[in-house]
Amino acid sequence: MIPYKHEPLTDFSVEENRRAYLEALKKVEGELGQHYPLIIGGERVTTEQKIVSYNPSNKEEVIGYVSKASQNIAEKAMQIADSTFNTWKKVDPRIRAEVLFKAAAITRRRKYELCAWLTKEAGKPWAQADGDIAEGIDFLEYYGRQMLELAKGKPLAENQGQINKYTYIPLGVGVIISPWNFPFAIMAGTTVAAAVTGNTVLLKPASTTPVIAYKFVEIMEEAGLPAGVINYIPGSGAEVGDYLVDHPRTRFISFTGSRDVGLRINQRASVLNEGQIWIKRVIAEMGGKDTIVVDDNADLELAAQSIVTSAFGFSGQKCSACSRAVIVGDEAYNQVVERVVELTKELVVGDPTNEDTFCGPVNDGGAFKKVSEYIEIGKSEGRIVVGGEYDDSKGFFIHPTVFADVDPQARIMQEEIFGPVLALTKANNFDEALNIANNTVYGLTGAVISNNRFNLEKAREDFHVGNLYFNRGCTAATVGYQPFGGFNMSGTDSKAGGPDYLTLHMQAKTVSESL
Ligand code: GLU
Repeated sequence: MIPYKHEPLTDFSVEENRRAYLEALKKVEGELGQHYPLIIGGERVTTEQKIVSYNPSNKEEVIGYVSKASQNIAEKAMQIADSTFNTWKKVDPRIRAEVLFKAAAITRRRKYELCAWLTKEAGKPWAQADGDIAEGIDFLEYYGRQMLELAKGKPLAENQGQINKYTYIPLGVGVIISPWNFPFAIMAGTTVAAAVTGNTVLLKPASTTPVIAYKFVEIMEEAGLPAGVINYIPGSGAEVGDYLVDHPRTRFISFTGSRDVGLRINQRASVLNEGQIWIKRVIAEMGGKDTIVVDDNADLELAAQSIVTSAFGFSGQKCSACSRAVIVGDEAYNQVVERVVELTKELVVGDPTNEDTFCGPVNDGGAFKKVSEYIEIGKSEGRIVVGGEYDDSKGFFIHPTVFADVDPQARIMQEEIFGPVLALTKANNFDEALNIANNTVYGLTGAVISNNRFNLEKAREDFHVGNLYFNRGCTAATVGYQPFGGFNMSGTDSKAGGPDYLTLHMQAKTVSESL
């Protein structure tokens, strides 16, 4: 087996690749507005009620009409997932892994088309869509290989007169509640991690991006996944999400989304319901308030580039996004602010079908309202140095916005905005900068731009985040290289794309035989 290596990103300076993207966009545009059923036990189930997926760049354009699960349908899906578990858990892990490798190959072949769906349904600019699909392929390739490793079991100490074996077995039915910001990568990654380990899945994708999830489930079917292993049941959080989280047959919940929803799920999952015979496991990947610290001796151009890319990639709609930067000393601070403003002004905002667009729309009307409100709050908390404009007449567009001279305790320094809003502040020395970086309830990502080895080592120990980066931005963790997950209110530190991730979906069994 070829060792794991991450999927290369597409070079759009190559004419052939550009053309392929444009053709894919045309193909997808010709397929908009179709109807998508639920998929339960391999059967297509059409409901009266629909989730309508819109293009966030153009509110009038319907991406697709997706059937919407009710509690009755969710119950049926649970029963099917529960009974399929009895057969799927017995399937050789090598066969389960093969399905993932095949799915990776299909995804790779359909890369441009899938990217185009992301551009239309999630508003992802070309490079961001490409990164999302590449990461999905990485999860398939990486978790497939991890499963092959895990299937070997783990060695134990040897004892005379005994044979001791330690193996991992699956848990049961997992409810996967996936986000809209990585509607392919995280949706696919969390789903296949559960499935490859022998569990069955009820997949409830984000309501603004259900079509790309449908495409993924089709890919898994084509790759040979038996019916009933992954069941596709989009629906409302309040109706279907709660019902499944509470269900006594739910064995675990894998959630990616906001802190408030994550805490709610965690609380509900802790309640013992009638007929339930286990403690539900919760894997939660929640928010972030991520900081880049710039030292006074740092490469300030690198600092400004890293800040702008991390703050405004996918319009800041990443839990890893840099939403604040702390710069040490007056001179570095002034220079970084100036350069961040220049670089931000260069970013092209608009429809992401246009190749040059760097910042597309935000997710939907709710996101637009929340982010624009934070911009207004920011106006009273700091000095606006660039951006501040927003317009939802056609799509949900918000210009990348930077506030300077913001107090570390200000709301825009403390609360997750999940949009293209960045706050800058100054520190007198590196220790103070680290304290500011740590003064949040979150602990997901962070970066330090510095040429001072002593300060880097200090940050290695004291910067309390799950993913810490030196001399680069704080987004774009790569599967297998930078396992991803955070501390404190950022979640359960379940490192996605890391060597321990699959075991979170399993339980270990010790068998000891006396000779
Ligand atoms: N893994 C992504 C990154 O490193 C962020 C995932 C998220 O926003 O949920 O940028």
